[in-house]
Amino acid sequence: MQQQAITILGSTGSIGKNTLDVIAQHPQMFSVYALTAYQNSELLLRQCQQFSPQHVVIVDEVAAEKFIVNAKAINLDCEIHVGTQALIDVVEANKVDMVMAAIVGAAGLLPTLAAAKAGKKILLANKEALVITGELFMNMAKHNGATVLPVDSEHNAIFQCLPKDSARFSLTDMGVKRLILTASGGPFRNYSLQQLKTVTPEQAYTHPNWNMGKKISVDSATLMNKGLEVIEAHWLFGATVAQIEAIIQPQSLIHSMVEYIDGSVLAELGVPDMRTAISYSLGFPKRLSLNVNSLNFNKIKSLEFQEIDLQRFPCMRLAYEALAIGGTMPACLNAANEIAVAAFLAGKLRFLQIAKIVEQTMRLLKFEQAKDVETILSVDEEARSVARQLIAAEKTTL
Ligand code: NAD
Ligand code: MG
Repeated sequence: MQQQAITILGSTGSIGKNTLDVIAQHPQMFSVYALTAYQNSELLLRQCQQFSPQHVVIVDEVAAEKFIVNAKAINLDCEIHVGTQALIDVVEANKVDMVMAAIVGAAGLLPTLAAAKAGKKILLANKEALVITGELFMNMAKHNGATVLPVDSEHNAIFQCLPKDSARFSLTDMGVKRLILTASGGPFRNYSLQQLKTVTPEQAYTHPNWNMGKKISVDSATLMNKGLEVIEAHWLFGATVAQIEAIIQPQSLIHSMVEYIDGSVLAELGVPDMRTAISYSLGFPKRLSLNVNSLNFNKIKSLEFQEIDLQRFPCMRLAYEALAIGGTMPACLNAANEIAVAAFLAGKLRFLQIAKIVEQTMRLLKFEQAKDVETILSVDEEARSVARQLIAAEKTTL
């Protein structure tokens, strides 16, 4: 079988590293065309030595200078590019078969859209890109013959519970009644509102079950992550808002479920290890062998569930609301959340204020049709600026 050439956007992140781990287990199947990072030049260099990509992109200029010096010192045989345009170039290149979209946040939007435009096989981890551009992204992928394979564990689980050729059919055609997203509930699922007031960034990004980047870990703690995933499921599978439910499964053993009209519920289970979802998308429609642990049902004994409390976790409600409003509102929700989470991580905002900032930003921005990328990007920009101003005003109340 011919090797598949892959570009990994965000190779130094949690998803990027796990992707390279899976690829290292199947060297005959994949060749790395390009690796990209924001500023972790040391790790990027080590990855280049191990995987010999033809191209490498480093976005931050200061980090790039360091990378170039160190690469020269070891005679690295690889073209080095600096800046954001290069992220798009290494996606669009003819030689590229598939793109792992694993940059965090809206920063990944343009290269991910470029992959859709260039008709690539897209392994989609960067959920924010889909939340922001939804219909536009899915249409662009469809019109250019791109394949979108979900990497997010819940959507990957749903994808596994649907027929293999699900992309060709509607949920109704397949007899699907509901999509049930599972959530771990994050580290604070049993905290009272009072306790939530004083949680620290360290507590928030120490996830009980999954080892992930800081931003998504905070999103998991606020349950905004589940909210973004509801929007993601809507666009990926064409599910209506009413067809998408979410429930806490604190053990993270069930990664999501599909209920059919005959009452059957199919679930995907496994140890919480992102490499399973990554390898399913890399190998699709084939399965790849992987060195992950098996579930031991004798030890597990029972599966637990818990309802999501929208009082304590209002981000989930805001995401449903943004999806129901439509247009550019999901982009607004996402942008305000990115700014609020960054402020929380920097110690400039309290945990419960994240939802407050997102809600106020949503109230202040007016409804617009998401008619093109320019409109969406200008709303993204405006929402960020409004959220920053709101945070500055909040500061005094801390
Ligand atoms: P991370 O913070 O660990 O890594 C982010 C990557 O993006 C890094 O390689 C970083 O260099 C790069 N990056 C950051 N800012 C950038 C910028 N401005 N320009 C270019 N590159 C930039 O994040 P992660 O946990 O790997 O998550 C990546 C994406 O995958 C997110 O959208 C997240 O929601 C999604 N996701 C992650 C997991 C997980 O288990 N980590 C699970 C499901 C979905
Ligand atoms: Mg997920």
